[in-house]
Amino acid sequence: MRPARAYVRHKEPMRKNEKYTLEDLGWNEKWKQSFVDFNAKGMMPARVAIRYNEIYRLLTADGEWLAEPTGRLRHDAASEADLPAVGDWVAAVPLDSSRAAIEAVLPRHSCFTRRAAGRAVREQVVATNLDLVFLVMGLDGDFSIRRLERYLTLAAQSHAKPVVLLNKADTCDDPQAKAAEVKTIAPDVDILVTSAKTQDMDLVLAPYLHRGQTIALLGSSGVGKSTIINRLAGHDVMTTAEVRESDSTGRHTTTHREMIVLGERGLIIDTPGMREIQLWAADEKVQATFDDIASLASKCRFRDCTHTREPGCAVLSAEEGGVLPEGRVESYRKLQREAEHLHRQTDVLAAVENKRKWKKLCKEASRHKKPSA
Ligand code: GDP
Ligand code: ZN
Repeated sequence: MRPARAYVRHKEPMRKNEKYTLEDLGWNEKWKQSFVDFNAKGMMPARVAIRYNEIYRLLTADGEWLAEPTGRLRHDAASEADLPAVGDWVAAVPLDSSRAAIEAVLPRHSCFTRRAAGRAVREQVVATNLDLVFLVMGLDGDFSIRRLERYLTLAAQSHAKPVVLLNKADTCDDPQAKAAEVKTIAPDVDILVTSAKTQDMDLVLAPYLHRGQTIALLGSSGVGKSTIINRLAGHDVMTTAEVRESDSTGRHTTTHREMIVLGERGLIIDTPGMREIQLWAADEKVQATFDDIASLASKCRFRDCTHTREPGCAVLSAEEGGVLPEGRVESYRKLQREAEHLHRQTDVLAAVENKRKWKKLCKEASRHKKPSA
């Protein structure tokens, strides 16, 4: 067995000579404003490029650093989602020439999250401070409108702007028909038909690549995310499927998300393949993603119509009349149920957490109370 990449990578030397400006990393007037207090304390602004569980690789105007959050930051984090994540701007304090401590995470302007895998109801942050999310699908069999609806809901929750990228156009007889199908469910979203194999991705994606702008690529594994990033970077920064399959021992594969600086073309974040991505979103984001259904629903006879069997249901009659694409209502119901379930679960969790905190506070208060004479 070969060692996990996290272990190998965080022992890699820091690239101190690879200097970026803060603007290359996405710094702007707004970040500067939110950093004023930290600046006064002599801390340095840094952006998280990689997370290896407890350890982080930071990019700064003064090269790379390996860093760990301070005990206080860990303690104050209400949940795992509050800890630094890829894309975060943090306030760091150097400990020596290559190691630093992360004192704080600056408030995120966008955050792409999913429900963590497993039974526990937990939020998992995928990447933060994104301007755009490229929702990548392969036109070689990976294409699924239902999955795209899920991605679009997550994108709506993230506050980053979604762009649909239909890759592997060279393997598909009629890529434009697929693009038209996407258009019916996402009329306001940019849809790109690409082939990372045959096209110049720099040219194709040029309208989206600007200094300081951060893009994350999301999609199942094998859709071409690493190939796209390698094309943009001009060299192999990500291991693609060919290399993964023929695996040369010791070579690391992308098991971690990583933010890559493209200089005047911005920053790009790869994410490990996510086929069965679970929702972490509010019902209003489902409504926003399915605004065609939401506006029909306002015409249903009953205000609490579930659009399953009620008389006078505008959604059902639109579905029967073929006005809505096949499968869309079912997809809407499914995501709505998921969002509602999540809402109930997180409410229960919040109540438990509050109770626990309250108990702890009471205990501490009684401990500090002076014994009455
Ligand atoms: P990732 O898992 O999303 O990072 O996907 P990879 O970048 O590793 O690509 C998976 C496979 O698809 C590799 O064999 C790539 O060479 C191939 N591939 C990527 N983009 C295209 C494309 O546009 N057309 C074709 N035919 N193959 C592609
Ligand atoms: Zn209805």
